[in-house]
Amino acid sequence: MSCKGNSNETLKRKVVYVYSPQYIETCDSLSKVPNRASMVHSLIEAYGLLQHMSIVKPHVATIEEMAKFHTDAYLEHLYKISQDGDNDDPQSGDFGLGYDCPVVEGIYDYAAAVGGATLTAAQCLLDKRGEVAINWAGGWHHAKKDEASGFCYVNDAVLGILKLREKYERVLYVDVDLHHGDGVEDAFSFTSKVMTVSLHKFSPGFFPGTGDLCDTGLGKGRWYAVNVPLDDGIKDDRYFQVFTSVMQEVQTLFNPEAVVMQLGADTMAGDPMCSFNMTPVGVAKCLRHVLDWHLPTLLLGGGGYNLANTARCWTYLTGTLLGQTLASEIPDHEFFTEYGPDYSLEISPSCRPDRNETKHLDTVISTIKDTFTHHLNVTVPLTLTHATHPPTSKPACWGCSGSRETQDVC
Ligand SMILES: [Zn+2]
Repeated sequence: MSCKGNSNETLKRKVVYVYSPQYIETCDSLSKVPNRASMVHSLIEAYGLLQHMSIVKPHVATIEEMAKFHTDAYLEHLYKISQDGDNDDPQSGDFGLGYDCPVVEGIYDYAAAVGGATLTAAQCLLDKRGEVAINWAGGWHHAKKDEASGFCYVNDAVLGILKLREKYERVLYVDVDLHHGDGVEDAFSFTSKVMTVSLHKFSPGFFPGTGDLCDTGLGKGRWYAVNVPLDDGIKDDRYFQVFTSVMQEVQTLFNPEAVVMQLGADTMAGDPMCSFNMTPVGVAKCLRHVLDWHLPTLLLGGGGYNLANTARCWTYLTGTLLGQTLASEIPDHEFFTEYGPDYSLEISPSCRPDRNETKHLDTVISTIKDTFTHHLNVTVPLTLTHATHPPTSKPACWGCSGSRETQDVC
């Protein structure tokens, strides 16, 4: 039996997969998701997908590379405490290290490995070695420039975006993790060159507590952050409907030249977060929507605390990219026993209710569309200056609010 919804004959992308045994071993050490990197890689391998991708060995990021975003003080402290796994350094609290981000020996090496892998993937896109580049062990979207947060010690997504910005004028970040991509949004909240779009659970007391509909960026970056707050229980069809409604506007008005997509799998049914009720089929439809733009696309992992379901999800997405239909039965491999009792690739949605009222979703979509219409339609001339078609009218000046990058067109 083949996995329904994965008939991807038309979708065969040239894909770079960042991998080395050492990299996987390093990522396996992350205490919140032990051995997850191995489980994901082993399932991708067991389905025979490696032979369809270019496998590229990641490099380890230098401190200078990580300092493109993170502060020297944070990186130096991470390096210092990493030597002996000192969890009691009094300064650690200032850098967000402790409770959610425990200090273990070698944590700096882990951060440098993840950061380097995403940089390697981004470089492959710049060098046109692939149309899509994957780092499933990346996507740590909560880390701030001087602070670890939410299991994230390095914000590799930010590093990847900065790398792509070396060549591409406008980079779009799309985050479908259960949690708000706050670290990435914060990093680019003052620029119009990077648009961040995050769909996430937004509920009192739910981490990180940011990402309300009205949070749209600051200064020159105002209107370039898009937040789609959702409630528990959302399933594939409605999620896809919201996603496409928002992304159509984003694509038209921002006209990105490259995309970074964070595909955290803590939205899956069966995740211990017990919030959304998604399956890999729904996420794959969202991914296909983005891939249909035919832009250089960097794919990252993220959350995902039901390790078997996370491996199912990212393997299914890898198959989607490669136009491969995957058998429902999990192939025999090292982690086979983790996939019981059904040993199948599919994830069935649970019977939990969808708490998202249609009226609320309609309001979210219409508010985002209105925001674009009233504030971002002046970007069309900017878009046209980079497009192959000449502008049909004289570009408008941005001067109306004085809060955006007037130098772009004036
Ligand atoms: Zn998450």
